[in-house]
Amino acid sequence: MRTNPLRWRICSLLAWRRGEVWKWWRRLWAWEEKELEECRTLLLDVSFHANVSDRWVWLPDPSGGYLVCGAYHLLTTKDIPLGDSAANLIWHNQVSLMVSVIAWRLLRNRLPTKSNLVQRGVITSYACLCVSDCGFKETAQHLFLSCSTFSTLWPLVRHWLGFMGVDYIVLSDHFLQFMYSIGGGKVTRSFLQLIWLLCVWVLWNERNNRLFNNVVTPIPSCWIK
Ligand SMILES: [Zn+2]
Repeated sequence: MRTNPLRWRICSLLAWRRGEVWKWWRRLWAWEEKELEECRTLLLDVSFHANVSDRWVWLPDPSGGYLVCGAYHLLTTKDIPLGDSAANLIWHNQVSLMVSVIAWRLLRNRLPTKSNLVQRGVITSYACLCVSDCGFKETAQHLFLSCSTFSTLWPLVRHWLGFMGVDYIVLSDHFLQFMYSIGGGKVTRSFLQLIWLLCVWVLWNERNNRLFNNVVTPIPSCWIK
């Protein structure tokens, strides 16, 4: 658990005026508007309740709370892929924290996809179809790997990079396979890692643009942008 510096900085720009609404101390700079948008993305699947106080939650054991022995058990249990190889690859010095956060949430199925929102009771099951109108439920696996619209990004990118390949159906396997698909050394792997992370970012943003802004960019144009 750690405090997100992005949210902290945005909070510091807010002021309470006469007990009515939150207002900005000053006009936001363009880069601050972008950070605000990123912050909104982070909070998409968070529901606020007026009568419930904030509290720390130890996610691996929400009811029992944090215990040293629980943390030890978590770190030494192989069934929970906390330290798996794909999860460690979400960090890259050429991408912003937001890109890594999206990848982290994706690999743990924590993105606010429609299926996840249905499970949490935020939306009904009638509203869980993929935004591309392909007719399938929007799960993370569908959106990023199986969708007849969104998943077309991967062959396009492979073509651009000059290699062939198939798309694995498990996201973490897909990430690893993509990185190691053309062999090469550390530099090549790092470059492919960067490309995979950027593809995930592009796809998630395109999905959000379609869903929330009603703006559709053809997938090939998303990549060129
Ligand atoms: Zn779809």
